[in-house]
Parts: sequence; C-alpha cells; structure tokens
Amino acid sequence: MARRTDNTGYSTPQPLGWIDRELDNRQRQGLRRRLFDRAGAQGARIEIAPIEVDGRELANFGSNDYLALAADKRLAWAVGQAIEQEGWGSGASPLITGHSQLHRRLEERLARFEKTEAALVFSSGFAANAGTVAALVGPGDVVYCDRKNHASLMDGCRLSRADVRPYPHCDWRKLEQLLSKAGGHRRRLIVTDGLFSMDGDLAPLEELAQVARRHDAMFLVDEAHATGVFGPGGRGTVEAAGVEADVHVRVGTLSKALGSMGGFVAGNRLLIEWLVNSARPYVFSTAPPAALAAAALAALDIVEREPGQREQLLDRARTLRARLAAQGWHIGNSASQIIPLVVGEADQAMKLSATLRERGHFVPAIRPPTVPHGESCLRISLTTGHTEEMIEGLLLALAEVASS
Ligand code: PMP
Repeated sequence: MARRTDNTGYSTPQPLGWIDRELDNRQRQGLRRRLFDRAGAQGARIEIAPIEVDGRELANFGSNDYLALAADKRLAWAVGQAIEQEGWGSGASPLITGHSQLHRRLEERLARFEKTEAALVFSSGFAANAGTVAALVGPGDVVYCDRKNHASLMDGCRLSRADVRPYPHCDWRKLEQLLSKAGGHRRRLIVTDGLFSMDGDLAPLEELAQVARRHDAMFLVDEAHATGVFGPGGRGTVEAAGVEADVHVRVGTLSKALGSMGGFVAGNRLLIEWLVNSARPYVFSTAPPAALAAAALAALDIVEREPGQREQLLDRARTLRARLAAQGWHIGNSASQIIPLVVGEADQAMKLSATLRERGHFVPAIRPPTVPHGESCLRISLTTGHTEEMIEGLLLALAEVASS
C-alpha cells in the first residue's frame, strides 16, 4: 500500500492522505485542536480549584463542574461501594441484561426530582439528546431547532430524517412564522437548549412554550448546564421559568453540575416507554456502569439538601458579569454561571487565553465550529469551587490585559 512518512516518523496510508491536508488547513485558520492532559482531579479541592496543565498549577475556569462535585468524596465513596457490590462493567445493553436495580433506583429518583412520571438514563447527555430527537420525529415530520443548540440536538435532527427548520437564536417570533407557514407534516417538534452552553444565555421558554401550545407541537428542552443550578429545586431553566407543564421532554445530563457521567430524559410514562423501544443509542449501546447511578444518586442528595450552593453560585455569577461588563468586556447576553468574553477572531481568543494562562488562569478559548465565525470567545465557567481570591485574581488579570 502506498504510504507517506512525515518528519515525525509516522506514516500515513495514501487513502488517508487527505486528513493531513485538512488538518493543515485548520492549522492555517487557527482552528486545529489539540488534546492536553490534565494532571490531578477536576477542581480537586473545594477551597481552591487549581488544575495542573503542562506542569503548572492554574486556577481552573474551564470545567462544567458547577457544584464542585466531580471530585467530591461523597460521590467517590458511593461509587466505591457500588463497585464493591456490583463490579464495574454493566456487560450488556439495558434491554438485555445491562439494566440493574441501581439504574432503576436512579430513574425513579430522577423522576421524583424532576416531578415527572418517569425518567430514563442514557450513557451520555449526547446520546440522550441525539437518540430522543430521532425517536420523536422521522420522515414526514418537522423539527424546529435553535441555531445555537448543542451539537447533540443538531445531530439528532439530522439523524431523524425529518425536515429540519433551524430558527435564529432565541427568535420565537420567527419560529412562530415558520410554524404558521408549515403544513402537511405529521408531527412537529421544537427543540432548544434551556441554558446555551457557550453564550450562557437563557432560551425564552415562556414564549416558546406558548408557540408550542398554539401549534400543537412537542416541546423538548435540554437542561444540560442548568440541572442542579437553576430553579428553586435545582431542576433547571424550565422550573425557573415556570413552564414545567408545557415542556413534554426534559433532557438533562449527570455530567456537569451532578459531577458524574451520563444523560437522562424525564417526562411522561409513555414517552419513556417509547424511548426504551426506539431510542437507538439506548437500545443498541451497553448500559453505563451501575456505579454511575450510585454517583448520581449521591449528587442528587447533595443538590436537594444544599440549595444554598446553587443560590450562591448564581449570585456570584451575577456580580462577576457586572464587573466584567464594567471593565468593557463583551459578555453577550449571559445570564448564568457561563460567561463568554467575546473577542471575535479565533487567533485573538487563543492569544488572550495564552496570556491568562501565563498569569495563572485557565480560561479556554472557544472557536469555530463550536461557535460561529467571528464569535470566538473565552468561556469563563464559574463553579462553587472558586474562592473570592481566585475570582479577584482573574478580574485583575483581565483588567491588566484590557488596559495594555
Ligand atoms: N447538551 C449540552 C447543551 C451540552 O453542552 C452537552 C455537553 N457539552 C451535552 C448536551 C452533552 O452532554 P454529555 O457531556 O453528558 O454527553
């Protein structure tokens, strides 16, 4: 087989040669991504939350571990106990022998937490979104999707083979127009993130719910970044907006504020039964380990017992947003613990991220295709693990950069 050997000594079979060219293209546009290996636990200590990157300890503003539970000892203990009793692997897909009593307990607990009839645990939030959308609509149906929805919802739309109608970000009036014009479709589905993962802004859920009601559409909200953070009970943006009765499908993830891994769908009993029968990532993929359910159960205990944590996080985020805006940074419409500093071009974002790194702060640059061209940003993600000193340190560094 024809091969090309590059200066690293690796050789590429000719049919894969295009990858080299594509990566070079990305490199030239400043869009090539590289993995780095974090050392130590995510937000390891509650009091100070550094991560080690390239041998240096940095203040970590780049995790979705909003309640500092990823390395919490209570979750680790619950996982240890579960592994002791059930081992690690789940061994099969849920419909064969992969679904354990611990999975069942977590699903019942999630349904109680969400105040829905039932819930279903997937191996990731990505699988939950993509699998659920594709199970709800198909050829002959139509799905309306906010242009800034997470990739997993977008992929679910594509996989479904329904007509996909993207609507401008948060523009419920345009959505209404699109729905008014549509005709002849069998089923209609509206899908939106509740809290957008890069912009940190909130979907206009009340208005979207009214549009869904007027047009007899199914309504799905992805609460990935809001579960455990928003709403008096920590159920997310749907609870905060008071539209629980209007949202038919609530998707959440166990992997962010709940400090674990996996995704879930909460809703009506029939909906959940339908997903067990037809969500392909659920049916055709090995169940996550039972120990994952044990971690999530421990996290839910904490979320229910410690509402002060999320209240304090959102209070601090409000103050941080105000101070960043006062320094002249563009933070878009952020209304949450996710705060973008919008700088525009990818290389500017990379430069700013590197400057902050030199000063001891890890704030990741977010570039296309994660955000549209011209909207590259630094994404500050605030967690309860950050101390006042860390936040002041970041603000000081940003003030110096802004004035230099
Ligand atoms: N939805 C949103 C809005 C997300 O940001 C993410 C993850 N970044 C997911 C879903 C996927 O969740 P998971 O990481 O659990 O697969």
